[in-house]
Amino acid sequence: MILDGKIITRQLLSDLSDQSAECREHGQVPTLAIVMATTDEGAAWYVRSIQKTAEKCGVAVRLIELNPTADTEVIADALQEQAADSSVHGLILQTPLPDGVAIDSLLSLIPLAKDVDGASPLAAGYLAYGLPSFVPATAAAVMKMLEYYHIPLTGKHAVVVGRSRIVGKPVAQLLLQAHATVTICHSRSADLARYTREADILVVAAGKPGLITPTDVQPDATVIDVGTNVTADNALVGDVDPAVGSKTALSPVPGGIGPITTALLLQHTVTAARTRT
Ligand code: NDP
Repeated sequence: MILDGKIITRQLLSDLSDQSAECREHGQVPTLAIVMATTDEGAAWYVRSIQKTAEKCGVAVRLIELNPTADTEVIADALQEQAADSSVHGLILQTPLPDGVAIDSLLSLIPLAKDVDGASPLAAGYLAYGLPSFVPATAAAVMKMLEYYHIPLTGKHAVVVGRSRIVGKPVAQLLLQAHATVTICHSRSADLARYTREADILVVAAGKPGLITPTDVQPDATVIDVGTNVTADNALVGDVDPAVGSKTALSPVPGGIGPITTALLLQHTVTAARTRT
């Protein structure tokens, strides 16, 4: 069974258009500022997809493109300017960043109310404490997918492959809040398949094409592939072998978490604007 992210995205974007129209009626144009200091193609592709989607649902995107050799001070100035601008509701710092830049101190400059991708240490702390704040959009997209398809979580064993700040850890926190029993695996986990085979819910965010094959999962599992990898012939593939979809419920790549993530990032921006309306 294939879990379709496109249906969910359409629904989210339709609601979003209504909400942003309402904001505009109150004189607020929901605005997301993106500070970027890279020429990385993947980052440029992601930003373009945010811009295209935002345009369709009435959210303004302000792109602040800095030189890819920008230092911490230059990036900090750009972030602080957007943080202080009351016409900006959401603020993200696009990665990758130039070498040697102090990412943690930069992320700390994003005010909690504008941190629509839950990227700052403060937002991570709020999530860990179970306090309300924006959570990373990819992690929220995983939970949205599970919710939409009514996948039970209470008492289930959820295995997350990947422990990054932006995907693995926040997904694990959210699954824990939803009363799953959570195992987090990473590159040094011994015998990964031993864990993945026990998963009722398996979330894979490693950035390793073909990491999970049909023999690594049990038939009743729900598998959410977050991996985004571009092959030598320019195809987009996930971390999970698509053949897994004939054995279990699978959220595939492409067409699964990716489009929901963009929609939720914009949703968070509109929510931030509405909070201020
Ligand atoms: P990172 O590189 O920051 O983290 C990858 C994680 O996977 C690390 O924790 C790493 O372990 C773990 N890992 C790597 N190889 C293995 C392995 N062989 N077995 C088990 N664990 C492994 O990546 P991100 O978390 O930022 O992204 C993960 C994937 O998700 C990428 O493909 C990325 O492109 C994609 N992505 C998709 C998004 C979307 O669709 N919306 C948004 C963001 C990311 P260790 O910590 O030990 O190094």
